[in-house]
Amino acid sequence: MSLDGCDTLIATPGDTTSGNTIFAKNSDRPPTETQPLVKHDRKTHGPNTINKLEFLSVPETEVSYKHVGSRPYWCWGYEHGFNEHQVVIGNEALQSRLRPEKPTLTGMDLVRIGLERGSNARQALDAMTSVIENFGQGKFDHPDGYRTYDNGFIIADPNEAYVLETAGHEWAARKVQKSQGISNTYSISNNWDLISENALRLANKSACDNGNDRLDFRDFFKEDTKFSYSADQRELRSCSLLDYHSGKINIAKMISILSDHSGQEFESKNKIEAIESGYGICMHSDSVSKGSNTAASLIAELCSNETRLPIYWTSMYSPCTGIFFPTFIEGMFNKSLSFGDKKSSQDSAWWIFYYLNQSLKTDDNETIVQLREKFDILQCEFFSTAYGLAEESYNLIKKNRHKDAEENLTHYMDTNFKRVIDIARSFIKTDVYSQNSVNSKFSLG
Ligand SMILES: [Zn+2]
Repeated sequence: MSLDGCDTLIATPGDTTSGNTIFAKNSDRPPTETQPLVKHDRKTHGPNTINKLEFLSVPETEVSYKHVGSRPYWCWGYEHGFNEHQVVIGNEALQSRLRPEKPTLTGMDLVRIGLERGSNARQALDAMTSVIENFGQGKFDHPDGYRTYDNGFIIADPNEAYVLETAGHEWAARKVQKSQGISNTYSISNNWDLISENALRLANKSACDNGNDRLDFRDFFKEDTKFSYSADQRELRSCSLLDYHSGKINIAKMISILSDHSGQEFESKNKIEAIESGYGICMHSDSVSKGSNTAASLIAELCSNETRLPIYWTSMYSPCTGIFFPTFIEGMFNKSLSFGDKKSSQDSAWWIFYYLNQSLKTDDNETIVQLREKFDILQCEFFSTAYGLAEESYNLIKKNRHKDAEENLTHYMDTNFKRVIDIARSFIKTDVYSQNSVNSKFSLG
């Protein structure tokens, strides 16, 4: 079975027009698996509290930070998310040769652990690697057929970012020096900065080994059979696009990368041309019952100089037919964004975008062009209003006027949301709702 899905990107400050880190992810999942956006406030926990994750439990932390996560509806954890300290994390499915016998942590558990426990990227990394070593993660045979796998992550804050890759209880991490994309393929070979001690022990190597004697994490742990040809192509493509736009990366560019369909935008560039077509970053499934479709996306524009709030641009379903909302952790979301489970519903923003995509499949190109025009105008308006509000709200919060900032942000997000949903609904043919009623009795996970 193909496990193709997910691309995570990080653009470093030197490569962005604003000089701020930009993180981005497309979460690719089974085509009818709802992925609402949920928010949890900061919480303190008593000693000896146990935290029940997807398949196992771990000791709870003293304080879990306020965060927002994009949550496959059946999951404790998230595909990607951000917290009150501007820590942003997204994961990728990987496949090592290790096969744990018992249920383990999932990659989505680990994303949420990092968001709850990290006040910066390094702290999130340390929290994640600590539970990885103690409890393990990876591919095991789940009796109900849940899809399980090892994981790769990008963990970022405004000042630094890490790539973390795992195999069972073992892990290696590399500090990001250069903008890069990761996909469903190991990227860390012998170029790690940090590694689990036991990985070295298993390989009979020392951390001080140099050159060829240094443990090659990818070669030692990856599964022998090729996991995903498409992943290598997508990794090459996202890295090439980031490289091509180096110094000019902004939110619009990142949206174009997440919406990428190979070969369309950069046909004249040799490097891009050399990459085989058909492996774009925006993922579409031909069928509603198999393959992967981009379920949700996030582009985080962090802020390192304390002049504004960070802006989290979020999108549901395929980014090429959607729009990215400016989202703020400080305000309240429209409840429709956080609602959605296995049964399709017109009260769920996620399902509206699902219906929109089903409807567009039977439309001619002209309709798609008209939709794109409407969303593009609104997207530009969001670009021109979000930053001013982010600055204004930051200043209100600095003056201890949290409530005023929250009210403004809630009003802004809600007004935007209603305008977007009105456009989306106007492009959904009425019979699409009844023809595409879904009640997944079983999640592929
Ligand atoms: Zn697309």
